[in-house]
Amino acid sequence: MSKTALSEFELIERYFIRPDAIDTAADRGHCETVALGIGDDCALLQPTVAMELAISTDMLVEGRHFFAGADPHALGHKALAVNLSDLAAMGASPVAFTLALAMPTVDTDWLEAFSTGLFALADAHACALIGGDTTKGPLTICITVFGHVPRGAALRRDLAVPGDDIWVSGTLGDARFALAVLRNESVDGQPLILTQEQLDHALQRLHRPTPRVALGSALRGIAHAAIDVSDGLGGDLVHVLERSGCGATINVDALPAGSALQTQSVAVRRAWALSGGDDYELCFTAPVHERAAVLAAGSAVDVTLTRIGSIVADAGKGLQLFDARGARLTISFASFDHFRTT
Ligand code: ADP
Ligand code: MG
Repeated sequence: MSKTALSEFELIERYFIRPDAIDTAADRGHCETVALGIGDDCALLQPTVAMELAISTDMLVEGRHFFAGADPHALGHKALAVNLSDLAAMGASPVAFTLALAMPTVDTDWLEAFSTGLFALADAHACALIGGDTTKGPLTICITVFGHVPRGAALRRDLAVPGDDIWVSGTLGDARFALAVLRNESVDGQPLILTQEQLDHALQRLHRPTPRVALGSALRGIAHAAIDVSDGLGGDLVHVLERSGCGATINVDALPAGSALQTQSVAVRRAWALSGGDDYELCFTAPVHERAAVLAAGSAVDVTLTRIGSIVADAGKGLQLFDARGARLTISFASFDHFRTT
């Protein structure tokens, strides 16, 4: 570890200010939006009349969201990825973000790796860092993202309609699987067994999630409601149902289990595809007559989409689970809750 006597402003200057960041954003068509970046009391955004500004904040706390000593490059990636995932779930395109950082010491190796991981993802999405705050304290990373979405086109949670298909992108459960391995969890008294290759894949899913930004935009005008799967598909889908005043049926065996999870028993596969968190896939609803358009949107952005169920009118029934043969299943899918789980 290399700790130095960098001042707060020196470290902001060295690791977080990039003189060309706004120009780069401007080059990519965001010039109308970021009018002033880092360095003043506020940054200035200038949304266009046709756009709504989408805003979301996510915080990562050491010991809570990541293990002490976690790879700082991956942490930089993930801190922004989870925020971009929220924009994706609204169908919004990234514009800019702010970074509030608390650190116990100024560790230049850590800052170098963290900022490199952060900016690699930011640049891939032409998302400019426009401000933040830096303070001493337990390691905590709080990012706020700003995106834009054409007026009225956001994929809100309250827009699901009875009869809609329910879809999910990519695969589910491998991030949860990696966490189980890191925590030495066993299932039914059996240790989890997997190859190095499977473990590497699962760890990648946990530490370097891919926010489905291009998919979210591609689904505008096709999908009705969407949510990103951060706390587990079942619990997250229930948020959509509650906001939309609907129920849903899903085929648990249709859930696209990740390649590591596929090696496990049916019971583990079902449980973690349904309730495993940290996948950052999109779960969305779309009218049946848009099936071809949904699949075309998925292939246009190279993301596999799987149809897993339907929205039903009866909100009282909540989320009903079935197996591949249509038999009712009872599987707990309580969402992760920081104040109810140790
Ligand atoms: P203030 O006193 O207004 O809170 P600061 O002195 O904390 O401002 O920050 C000075 C400038 O540096 C501001 O423009 C702020 O947005 C920016 N800044 C501070 N910390 C960060 C950070 N971690 N990443 C990006 N910009 C930052
Ligand atoms: Mg400040």
